[in-house]
Amino acid sequence: MKNNPYTVLGVSRTAGPAEWKRAYRRLAMRWHPDRNDHPEATERFKEIRAAYDQLAALDSKEEVISGAHDEAEPEEAAAKAADIRLNLELSLEEAAAGCRKNVHYARGKPCPTCQGSGEAGISRTTFCATCHGSGRVRDGQRTLQPCADCGGRGFFTERSCRDCGGSGRQTTEVKLKITVPPGMLPGDELRLSGQGEAGGQNVLPGDLYLTIIIQAHPLYQLRERNLHFSMPVSALAMLAGGDIELPSLFGRLKHSLEAGATEIRELRLLGKGYPGRGKTPAGDLIVSLQPVFPQRLDARQRKLLLQANAALMDKAAESLPEIVAWRQENGLS
Ligand SMILES: [Zn+2]
Ligand SMILES: [Zn+2]
Repeated sequence: MKNNPYTVLGVSRTAGPAEWKRAYRRLAMRWHPDRNDHPEATERFKEIRAAYDQLAALDSKEEVISGAHDEAEPEEAAAKAADIRLNLELSLEEAAAGCRKNVHYARGKPCPTCQGSGEAGISRTTFCATCHGSGRVRDGQRTLQPCADCGGRGFFTERSCRDCGGSGRQTTEVKLKITVPPGMLPGDELRLSGQGEAGGQNVLPGDLYLTIIIQAHPLYQLRERNLHFSMPVSALAMLAGGDIELPSLFGRLKHSLEAGATEIRELRLLGKGYPGRGKTPAGDLIVSLQPVFPQRLDARQRKLLLQANAALMDKAAESLPEIVAWRQENGLS
């Protein structure tokens, strides 16, 4: 096969079996050697046929792979309708705790008018707009050439079903209430068996895949299963130590802060981050404590702080004997 089957059929790579079939039917009708006396018609027809067979084979291979995970499905699934893939957007809290969600989407079922064949009972003929029905067009040298659009026939014979435009499908709105288990991460997929494109005679319905998207959170950043956030803490509390309260996804957590330097400090609370799933354990809560100094003091606060400062200065003198000696020598005591 020298040509890309998608290019030959003129379909995009995201097109599904219904679109391949439609494109194949349209091109086969145009290029079938019985209907088209263009010198290359036979060759073109073979190429179109091969492209369609190649895509159809590709499609059935994928069915076997996805079917292999599901024991409930028969091993030799003859045909399966296409899967549908959608994004499911959740807040961080919803994704962490699990939730119930409504999902609205459209899925196809076989067109009742044509039973999914895409063909109408009666064919209709339309004249080719490019060559106005003559089957010939003039090229750059003003020579008459067979019209490429209609293959030189000057008209199209169509048997497309008018109700579905030849697609063979009719779309219906679906509303599902689904349960999202706790602890799913962005990019994880939920598979809802049989909720994809509708099946039909000897065709199993496709599956619905929902890809989890988690909205940005005003406080937390999720990295793997760890939750990161920054929190301002009084510099004096960092200096003195004591109990502080930390927000978490599952309520407030008390933490006893060790006395220490008034600089940015990282706390790591093991297993208090995003919940685990299956055998994967929960992540950690990682807090960056940002020291803040009081900006404005009232009289009482100022008095207390000066008292604290005086007490601290006594200690400072002890740790600097040279200064104590200098003060004594100069009568400053
Ligand atoms: Zn139809
Ligand atoms: Zn034409």
